[in-house]
Amino acid sequence: MSTEQNLPSREFMSVLTQVLGQPQQTLALHEPEFKGNEWSYVKECIDTGWVSSVGKYVDEFERRLAALTGARHAIAVVNGTAALHVALQVVGVRSGDEVLVPALSFVGTANAVAHAGGVPHFVDSHPDTLGMDADALDRHLAEIAERSVHGVHHRRTGRRIAAIVPMHTFGHPVHIERLLEVANRWGLPVVEDAAESLGSTSRGRHTGTFGRVGVLSFNGNKIITTGGGGAILTDDPELAKQLKHLTTTAKRPHRWEFVHDAVAYNYRLPNLNAALGCAQLERLPEFLESKRALAGRYRQALAGLSTLSFVDQPHQTESNFWLNAVRIAKPEMAVRDRLLGVANDAGYQCRPVWTLLNKLPMYEACPCASLTVAEALEASLINLPSSPKLNRSAP
Ligand SMILES: *Cc1c(COP(=O)(O)O)cnc(C)c1O
Repeated sequence: MSTEQNLPSREFMSVLTQVLGQPQQTLALHEPEFKGNEWSYVKECIDTGWVSSVGKYVDEFERRLAALTGARHAIAVVNGTAALHVALQVVGVRSGDEVLVPALSFVGTANAVAHAGGVPHFVDSHPDTLGMDADALDRHLAEIAERSVHGVHHRRTGRRIAAIVPMHTFGHPVHIERLLEVANRWGLPVVEDAAESLGSTSRGRHTGTFGRVGVLSFNGNKIITTGGGGAILTDDPELAKQLKHLTTTAKRPHRWEFVHDAVAYNYRLPNLNAALGCAQLERLPEFLESKRALAGRYRQALAGLSTLSFVDQPHQTESNFWLNAVRIAKPEMAVRDRLLGVANDAGYQCRPVWTLLNKLPMYEACPCASLTVAEALEASLINLPSSPKLNRSAP
């Protein structure tokens, strides 16, 4: 291989060793950390027997999430995908509707649409935010959709377009204000997939609080974890009531009778998981600080390189830097895979971004906008080890 072809690999390895040192054992992409009150809160659940669907930690976790994000209401549920599913349902997504989602996202975003009976309709990313491109979305809608008293319809498929689901990729806030403008102009509700962006803000306002509803995830690899878990944020008291009802089997309150008044879900977060969540939330400020510092070191190590650059927080936003990433200057799958190979061989767990959702077998036939930016991002993004502890153990 020529020296020139080797340059990206050499630059990549020099960044990794400069920031992370030589690994004694594999450095994970993202590891959770339990060094606060996790054990004592979980033990309390077990000691008192309140492990499941009743107990003080669920209410407490919801209260703390609302306080932290500034949302009026937070409803804790079993995972982020379930949260998205019911969120789509309460904003009016019905069987056979299309929902606009980024092609560049975790599969859960599209799965939730399918669970709600809808069809994902994939749209392109903005190169700066990695998330949904508001102008491209607006142009796409102008080209394929028509608006009437019955709502927005996709002319070719005849299906209704029922919602827009922007996502904050790796914790970096998308251009949410511009997306809201487009959504408002078309009369479409926004469900914000903020699964990756707890602690991230756009012009000082927390992600997940811009749309009619927003969704968080507390899966094991996210910035805080409840083992598995999620939450739905909303300012609308009526929606909040519906969301609580739908995620708790739609049981009418009564001292002993079992009357359920809708086909609903058992999506409530167990008390055990909420206890873990309360303890993890207490650590969030510290995690954010570590991640910011680690991102700063990656930024510095990548500055001035010719073949690679740091994926930084967009203008006027504060990212939680959940997963750090590099961008290869010349998008090329072969180069990307070579870098992944050398890094993983050396003990740095690096990962590519997700395969575009429109390429997955179950979503191949779904409608798509032009996806040129998402295609380039797929061939140029690599995630770097980002655990909060890496900042402290660094060379
Ligand atoms: C993690 C994640 C989800 C789903 O969350 P789970 O809790 O794993 O179900 C949804 N969307 C995105 C973008 C995610 O990263």
